[in-house]
Amino acid sequence: MFLPQEIIRKKREGQALSAEEIQFFIQGVADESITDSQIAAFAMTICFHELSMDERIALTCAMRDSGIVIDWSEMNFGGPIVDKHSTGGVGDVTSLMLGPMVAACGGFVPMISGRGLGHTGGTLDKLESIPGYNVAPDNQTFGEVTKQAGVAIIGQTGNLAPADKRVYAVRDITATVDNLSLITSSILSKKLAAGLESLVMDVKVGSGAFLPTYEQSEQLAKSIVAVANGAGTNTTAILTDMNQVLASSAGNALEVREAVQFLTGEYRNPRLFEVTMALCAEMLVLGKLASDEQDARVKLQTVLDNGAAAKHFGLMVAGLGGPADFVENYSTYLENAPLIKPVFANQSGVVCAMDTRAIGMAVVGMGGGRRNASDPIDHAVGFDQFIRLGERADDTKPLAMIHARSEQQWQQAADELLSAIEIGEHYQPTPNVYRKIRIEDL
Ligand code: URA
Repeated sequence: MFLPQEIIRKKREGQALSAEEIQFFIQGVADESITDSQIAAFAMTICFHELSMDERIALTCAMRDSGIVIDWSEMNFGGPIVDKHSTGGVGDVTSLMLGPMVAACGGFVPMISGRGLGHTGGTLDKLESIPGYNVAPDNQTFGEVTKQAGVAIIGQTGNLAPADKRVYAVRDITATVDNLSLITSSILSKKLAAGLESLVMDVKVGSGAFLPTYEQSEQLAKSIVAVANGAGTNTTAILTDMNQVLASSAGNALEVREAVQFLTGEYRNPRLFEVTMALCAEMLVLGKLASDEQDARVKLQTVLDNGAAAKHFGLMVAGLGGPADFVENYSTYLENAPLIKPVFANQSGVVCAMDTRAIGMAVVGMGGGRRNASDPIDHAVGFDQFIRLGERADDTKPLAMIHARSEQQWQQAADELLSAIEIGEHYQPTPNVYRKIRIEDL
């Protein structure tokens, strides 16, 4: 029999906790025999004494097992169960193309996504721009759509990793969010409860990333790869750039529009293409649907070119309650903002840097994201035709088109964009994809 305060004291003194002690503590979090103040003290000791990889694995498994762990075996999918998770970004609409692309290559992607958090957009909020799309189906529908379409993107079902929910709520108000051990186990406990065989983690780097420096993002990527593989899920991390808006648009319906245009070939932002292909290719390799990255890229290009990926997207939308002809007629279904007007830079020059976090917050400020959990979302607002780093802004080339509800909202967003985008003469390019970290690279 353990005592919570003795477990906290042991960690406070810098000693390693056993898997049994961690399981006991997390079990107490789940059954509420452990109090919020004990959770706060536990999280704070970890901020001063980072957990070892073994302790992180034990914490992740204990939080994963605090609720249901989905077992897909009865569905007989007939292919590997693979997923991707991102640490969050601005204009990061990759999930909407990646799921259907991998599905069209024979994978099954039961993706449990989130809502917008802070400055980052949320996949569920984007999908809810599609009339009728149900992000909260019952488990049977979730399984059936995954089987038929190869992909279903929905919100958190039932009781996945409830211990994390409590720990996260306490961390949020006790300055214990930005800790590697706690972030790793929080993200992975929820993902691994979804019964995946393989996972690709997109860890963002740069001005719109969750962690502020490349080194910290790399450490998080390594931690996630070590812990997820240690917990039995084949996982690779890819470090990708968030020093600018990833897609050409940022905002819910605007990003859905871009995702459909990407899948049909109507318009593909090259940076979004490179990041999406890198993530998808690794999913195919981990799922043994391709022999290597080159083979994966050929297969992915084929399903983009022959319309199979777009078809799988359409099947998912229809299966989850959206219009059956959404891919063909997306522009009739997606809401437009009443005021669509370009914003120009104050002086001509090269776009040298973007404060991507501030751009994300500008979307939130227009109502495209939430300040409080209960806020409604305005799906129509945001930016498109976003300028890229290294491009020249002048009086013919705007920074972006702003889609706004009113003149006043347009002005506010324009002011925020003008201060978030640096215009100068020199631009130092950054890669779109920095590096891939597989378990053998650790
Ligand atoms: N996202 C999560 O789900 N958990 C964290 O701790 C941080 C980001």
